[in-house]
Amino acid sequence: MNRYLRYALKAACHHTFDEKLRSRHCAVLVDGQRILGASFNDLKSHPVTEPYHRKFGRPGSTIHAEMASVINAPWNTDIAGKTVYVVRINARGKPMMSMPCDMCRMFLRDYGIKRAVFTIDSTDEGSIEF
Ligand SMILES: [Zn+2]
Repeated sequence: MNRYLRYALKAACHHTFDEKLRSRHCAVLVDGQRILGASFNDLKSHPVTEPYHRKFGRPGSTIHAEMASVINAPWNTDIAGKTVYVVRINARGKPMMSMPCDMCRMFLRDYGIKRAVFTIDSTDEGSIEF
């Protein structure tokens, strides 16, 4: 497994997710070889993501980890052209399919993210370019 996915996996396993969340994701934004931070899906919405939730018929929906990784990026970082690594874990901490949804793809593309790398299962990973 890619080292940034491993990092995201470890962060997800150590994070306390709200029990009401149906899935557990961690997204890590990477600049070159520098990890800018690990972000998680959360029940709360955000003004920046709300237009996307409305567009996809999910007003007031939870913030997805990929979106959170962009919002949580350091203010002085140019995120254009960067890669986001996304992991989803089950209750036992095993990696599962975590391909960004249509809403996140649009969001990431709009914010200039170049590529998303994601877990498929314990052994495989996939990637998409924007
Ligand atoms: Zn999403």
